[in-house]
Amino acid sequence: MVLRATGNRHTAPGNQKNEAGNRKPGTVNMCTGCPGLCCKLVVELSSYDIMRIMLRENKSTDDFLLVVDAADDDAYKFQVLGKYAKFVMQMRENNSCIFLDETARLKCVIEKSKPAICIAYPYSFRDGHLVMRDDKRCPTENLRRARYAQHMHSIMESNMWEWDRYAEIVEDWNASAKGSETPGEFMNFATKEMELETSPLGSVYRKFLRLFRKREH
Ligand code: SF4
Ligand code: SF4
Repeated sequence: MVLRATGNRHTAPGNQKNEAGNRKPGTVNMCTGCPGLCCKLVVELSSYDIMRIMLRENKSTDDFLLVVDAADDDAYKFQVLGKYAKFVMQMRENNSCIFLDETARLKCVIEKSKPAICIAYPYSFRDGHLVMRDDKRCPTENLRRARYAQHMHSIMESNMWEWDRYAEIVEDWNASAKGSETPGEFMNFATKEMELETSPLGSVYRKFLRLFRKREH
């Protein structure tokens, strides 16, 4: 799964909402009538996605995060416990994302904290270009409506920024890690390196710190 990101810093995703409750950026309801087929794919997470879900949704990592072995060609694999790993979203036994509300509305219940990769689907970024992913599951009729591609670059800028920064963090970690560290130690390292104050998560991070400090006193 390749999703390179550089920048939006605060461009909100579009407000188009499909019958399945998913929102897709752009001018058309691309997802209308689709039962959220992309919510049954592995969702790779960056440290920014993880932090956003924790801060905005008030979740702990146990609620949604999994650490799995990475494949050789995974772009964002980090060294822990003597092997390469990556972060992914937990799934239910039926392979749907744990944040997919499987009632009739099939809504993403973390709409405002949706991972970058979910916002971009069925596109990903390669070498600064938007490309259709090989694993696209969108029904043909929905793909025909995918006229929002021209809007995706601006919408995805912050997401791209996050993924580019995450790639640097992973690279720095892999260059200095002994390999015996744990995923938790990697996440602590990433958290320090994420420049949260100035990232798109700055405001929610500062609010979290204020509440945290209040609780400490
Ligand atoms: S986070 Fe939301 S959009 Fe992404 S896979 Fe899960 S339910 Fe679908
Ligand atoms: S599979 Fe395609 S059409 Fe269906 S919800 Fe996902 S992005 Fe929308």
